[in-house]
Amino acid sequence: MEYLPLFVEVTARSCLVVGGGEIAARKASLLLKANAKVTIVAPEVSASTQALIDNDEVSWIQSVFVKEQLTSQMLVIAATDKMDVNKAVYQQAKAQNILVNVADCPELCDFILPSILDRSPLVVAISSGGHSPILARQLRARLETLIPPAYGRLASLVGRYRDAVKTKFNKLSMRRRFWESLLQGQVVDHVLAGRDDMAEQTLNHILNDVSDQELQQGEVYLVGAGPGDPELLTFKALRLMQQADVVFYDRLVSKEILALVRKEAEQIYVGKQRDWHAVRQEEINQLLLEHAQQGKRVLRLKGGDPFIFGRGGEEIETLAAENIHFQVVPGVTAASGCATYAGIPLTHRDYSQSCTFVTGQLKHGELKLNWSALVQPRQTVVIYMGLGGLPVLSQQLLSHGMAADTPAALIQQGTTEHQKVWISTIAELPAVAEREKPVAPTLIIIGDVVKLHDSLAWFNQ
Ligand code: SAH
Repeated sequence: MEYLPLFVEVTARSCLVVGGGEIAARKASLLLKANAKVTIVAPEVSASTQALIDNDEVSWIQSVFVKEQLTSQMLVIAATDKMDVNKAVYQQAKAQNILVNVADCPELCDFILPSILDRSPLVVAISSGGHSPILARQLRARLETLIPPAYGRLASLVGRYRDAVKTKFNKLSMRRRFWESLLQGQVVDHVLAGRDDMAEQTLNHILNDVSDQELQQGEVYLVGAGPGDPELLTFKALRLMQQADVVFYDRLVSKEILALVRKEAEQIYVGKQRDWHAVRQEEINQLLLEHAQQGKRVLRLKGGDPFIFGRGGEEIETLAAENIHFQVVPGVTAASGCATYAGIPLTHRDYSQSCTFVTGQLKHGELKLNWSALVQPRQTVVIYMGLGGLPVLSQQLLSHGMAADTPAALIQQGTTEHQKVWISTIAELPAVAEREKPVAPTLIIIGDVVKLHDSLAWFNQ
């Protein structure tokens, strides 16, 4: 981070603006919004600055800048069109240890003024660290559409109840639970619909009736994190990721996705690799159960979709047996994510009528699959966990009658910036893997649809 974001109280504190033009007036107005005591220094002023002076909103020192004007100022903003004046303000402020900002000149700034989304008391500040104020402004415009103006009223309403909630729930974790469930429910709907009175009634009702025990229920969220690209997460996945107390994650969950989990959540790695298991499946089932029984919101984050070669079913069976609440969130499975990002439409009607997902994981060096079913024409076969068994796989498909020139693809780390695609045939695929040494995770797609990669590949080209 190049700058430390801070929200600073400036109410009734002296702040100096050097300059009398439009930009200076805008900076002064911003300071006034936060109730600062603003003085403007300028030999002459523009109409908008004059208006502030006439309304007694700011004081005006009608002169050029001299260093004495900095005495007892908390901060100073220089916004003149004369670079030598701006520089002098900067140097003098530095010498006196006063925070300084020179408009549009990041190298002469101790602090920068972010792009602001004002839903007071809720305020979102965005900064590009001076690298691209326009980008920050565009981002702000996007947030503008995401955060309804009513959120300001919502923040004021719940702010009035902070003390009451503190009195009722003296444990921090309980208070957090209370607020999180409250802020997902009817109270918010009422405020958004402009029914603030009803929102307050509902809030009171919930506050008085909810018991510690109800709040203390643990729950498990079994969430599919998709194949890698964080933008392929579902909204629901993201929401639950942001309210978890503890997260158990797999090797397939990317760093970028983990970074979206609530910062305070404890992160526990329970990843598996082909030949060894960091934590055995039964232990994972048990860990989820124990943490939920302690009243925690447990996020079980899995690559792809939890119900597709993800053993998600086993994990929730244990929970169901113990009457622990759980929710399952589907994710984009590797077949879908990788095929799409490799430009391979799995069921393009000119080539394929069905698509089969199979596991290629070897058991004791063997692969027991329904081979004759896999060699049917006009079918796409997607193989998960097939890298280790690729030679066996290729040889079995060939000996069960698959044409040697059937197109086949290897997709390594699909949907991520490291995605690599190798196109070959089922006969040649083992040699390609031997030569190129793809790393996990890699998916195999077999069938005529693979031909379309040539013309339809669009990602990471
Ligand atoms: N539940 C997961 C699959 C877990 S099995 C899902 O729905 O996607 C693990 C296998 O999935 C890996 O061996 C690999 O074959 C495949 N896989 C998962 N993510 C992948 C990715 N980003 N790129 C390529 N293959 C992937």
